[in-house]
Amino acid sequence: MYNITLIPGDGIGPEVSEATKCVINATGLDVNWETVNAGKKIFEDTGVLVPDKVFKSIEKNKIVLKGPITTPIGSGFSSINVMLRKKYDLYSNVRPVKSLPGIDSHFKEIDLVIFRENTEGLYAGVERELPDGSFEAIKRITRKASIRIAKSAFEYAKKNNKKKVTVVHKANIIKLTDGFFLNCVREVSKDYPDIELQEVIIDNMCMQLVMNPNQFEVIVTMNLYGDLLSDLCAGLVGGLGLVPGANMGKDISIFEAVHGSAPDIAGKNLANPIALILSSAMMLNHIGETNKAEIIVKAVMKTIFEDRVLTQDLGGKATTTEITEAIIKNII
Ligand code: ATP
Repeated sequence: MYNITLIPGDGIGPEVSEATKCVINATGLDVNWETVNAGKKIFEDTGVLVPDKVFKSIEKNKIVLKGPITTPIGSGFSSINVMLRKKYDLYSNVRPVKSLPGIDSHFKEIDLVIFRENTEGLYAGVERELPDGSFEAIKRITRKASIRIAKSAFEYAKKNNKKKVTVVHKANIIKLTDGFFLNCVREVSKDYPDIELQEVIIDNMCMQLVMNPNQFEVIVTMNLYGDLLSDLCAGLVGGLGLVPGANMGKDISIFEAVHGSAPDIAGKNLANPIALILSSAMMLNHIGETNKAEIIVKAVMKTIFEDRVLTQDLGGKATTTEITEAIIKNII
């Protein structure tokens, strides 16, 4: 039996988490779900943003499936998501972006993975007010964090027979921090002589991605650029409802979709649960349940491609419940 921490989160989080839990249970995997919650709703109900039992559960189970969490302004944290990534040193944010057959999008056969440094850089939100009333944000880039994310990307490329890793930066302008990150990636690349290192400046990368995304296989970049490129890449394959993710540390891993809490559609049974369901397949692969992971991915594919059960974001009419039931029916 697996003990897994489930954090439903806010907005569409509870809906997509419940759907994902049902899909995993339908595979017959023996899971003891330990459900704890944090974020906006918990704060409104209890005055506490992250109850202690959340930390205890994460530290005990080490494997977490998480919905999007909203951090209310003025609650003492800039972001609970960032805090969890830093606290548990979940340094590697892995986001596979893949075209799914049956999804109407401009490009076909996109198959790339973004490796986003997850603990530092501008996205870490270290900011301060200066005596003259201006504000500054601190972009700290360390050797330790840069080397290990580069290693994650190259190791993935090696294991998956990828020929090229693309490092994305702005070192021509932001010379010290981005330049240092770039040099760390170059250093790591020397240990992988069979894999090409391609260096692309972030603005050019945005253009390249919307013109010819199929040229990319593995992308490695800093925290904020990784955040932006993830949404851009999601748009290339049909939207945020489809793209999964994992926050990987040495001992603890948190699996969550790229999307946020989508307050515009929350509570309406409209959310597409596929992004979190595919995140859960990444989780099953991580714990060694590769067969079950494959069953889930195949069930999702069949639901979209053959059954044509699609939520609104994919141009269909199915509700969260209907698409979940269709996926469960395809689990054999
Ligand atoms: P955050 O800042 O928390 O990352 P965001 O600003 O990126 O959030 P999202 O909450 O991800 O925004 O939503 C962006 C848009 O995508 C919204 O219109 C939302 O409805 C849509 N969206 C996001 N996730 C889904 C989903 N799972 N199913 C359908 N639509 C979604």
